[in-house]
Amino acid sequence: MANSIDGNVLAAKSLAKFGVQHMFGVVGIPVTSLATRSVSLGIRFIAFHNEQSAGYAASAYGYLTGRPGVLLTVSGPGCIHGLAGLSNSAANTWPMVMISGSCDQSDAGRGDFQELDQIQAVKPFSKFSIKATKITEIPNCVAQVLNWALLGRPGGCYLDLPTDVLHQKVSLSEAENLITEAAEKVFNSGNQLNQIRIPDNGLVSEAASLLKNAAKPLIVIGKGAAYARAEAALKKLVETTGIPFLPTPMGKGVLPDTHDLAATAARSLAIGSCDVALVVGARLNWLLHFGEPPKWSKDVKFILVDISEEEIELRKPHLGLVGDAKTVVETLNKEIKDDPFCLARNHPWVEAIWKKSKDNVAKMEAQLAKDIVPFNFLTPMRIIRDAILGVGSPAPVVVSEGANTMDVGRAVLIQTEPRTRLDAGTWGTMGVGLGYCIAAAVACPDRLVVAVEGDSGFGFSAIEVETLVRYQLSVVVIVFNNGGVYGGDRRTPEEMNGAHKDDPAPTSFVPKAGYHALIEAFGGKGYLVGTPDELKYALSESFSTRKPAVINVIVDPYAGSESGRLQHKN
Ligand code: ADP
Repeated sequence: MANSIDGNVLAAKSLAKFGVQHMFGVVGIPVTSLATRSVSLGIRFIAFHNEQSAGYAASAYGYLTGRPGVLLTVSGPGCIHGLAGLSNSAANTWPMVMISGSCDQSDAGRGDFQELDQIQAVKPFSKFSIKATKITEIPNCVAQVLNWALLGRPGGCYLDLPTDVLHQKVSLSEAENLITEAAEKVFNSGNQLNQIRIPDNGLVSEAASLLKNAAKPLIVIGKGAAYARAEAALKKLVETTGIPFLPTPMGKGVLPDTHDLAATAARSLAIGSCDVALVVGARLNWLLHFGEPPKWSKDVKFILVDISEEEIELRKPHLGLVGDAKTVVETLNKEIKDDPFCLARNHPWVEAIWKKSKDNVAKMEAQLAKDIVPFNFLTPMRIIRDAILGVGSPAPVVVSEGANTMDVGRAVLIQTEPRTRLDAGTWGTMGVGLGYCIAAAVACPDRLVVAVEGDSGFGFSAIEVETLVRYQLSVVVIVFNNGGVYGGDRRTPEEMNGAHKDDPAPTSFVPKAGYHALIEAFGGKGYLVGTPDELKYALSESFSTRKPAVINVIVDPYAGSESGRLQHKN
């Protein structure tokens, strides 16, 4: 057919037309041409080694940009590897679209190449999934998945493109009409799925009055607030009312950690004693001790702000405000303006939080001030903290994973700007590091990206350092190398019996592995450091050149604790 295009080109055209700027993935049968055509239409395609890592990148991209991160995979095993990213999006409530090629429809059920019922496989992890059963359905399917990913509570969606559909053809003019019709139907119909819901005014004034009458109010800021770009509204709320705030790990930076009203360093006191807690964009899940005693007072009244009605129904708070965090907090600000109040700095609650924070920070600083060699976790973390702060604004995006490295990093590293911390998140997903780094470098090109991760977290996707070098991304990966998961061989003599007693412990890796040499194999810069001066030099050089680098920090294998902060769960 003259002037005709196939399904791969139509999918690429639809993605470009509906505003997709970046894609992550691994090419192969039957989607290679979808990737190359997307590139020719202006979409930047970041080609990974493994769909798992590409999927993690797509999920974090969705969080950082507020637009669905798009993952492209091949059929069968490619789709299965991609589920890691899709499920991570679901767990963290981040918008993402996974697009996978699939086997020829007429061969399904007969053992075709890489055959899998992918619609069935993605079900537990996607809020919406659809298969294009003929080429003319492609534009509408693409529009729908992109739209659904942003609907209400964001999440992962899936589009299945069978091989035969990708090989069918339509005329160029029909293709253009189909794309226009799909845009009209899905995006311009006036009933877009991601409309902002306006909170109920009566409930907002009840929330304002609860906060005003509380003796010990607290504002908890989660990554849903960061996603909603609620930073300006929250700053106004905190500063006009004088109420202390507590960020969740990825809520750090929505307001600077250095803010006078930050209760980060007085977390136990803040959650254990507050009587009214306004929780904005955070679930009362394990990270917030389910909102229950003994960590929280049994009488605390929760006011939950969440885009998801089901979330509010699940938690049964004292008051629930369903809506977009930015809009709800702005409405709350207006309500408070009509009946203003502000806790004085010497209000007993504010003063108690402030004093506890100061004491805890002073204790931590005393520990951090020591230069311990061989390195523990604190000495290198302090040096890294200072180097990151030295970058100024725009602040680097910090990616953090690993048990001890992430725990210590959360306490020591300082976030001054919103959406500059990515970590293992709601699911405690380890192995996200390199994918997140790549997503952050692509989504935030003006920011340096600094990964602070354990050697085990790094190892999940270490080969993606080649991807960093290939795209020349501004990423410095700092590996806390303590020779294994949690550290060295911690087995007791009884645990070392048995036929395989001479094997290394399940927790250990090759001691002092040369991770820095891995990136050098591809032309990147590697540093091996074991002293404060060596680390300072490596940070200063790599932060100023802003080229892909790995800093291999040798840490005492016995410095960390098994299971980090979650020892009671192991
Ligand atoms: P954290 O890990 O910071 O504790 P969670 O992932 O547990 O945060 O919670 C984030 C919450 O934010 C989810 O319940 C999600 O529904 C909600 N959310 C997502 N987008 C928005 C938004 N625009 N406005 C308000 N809440 C949102």
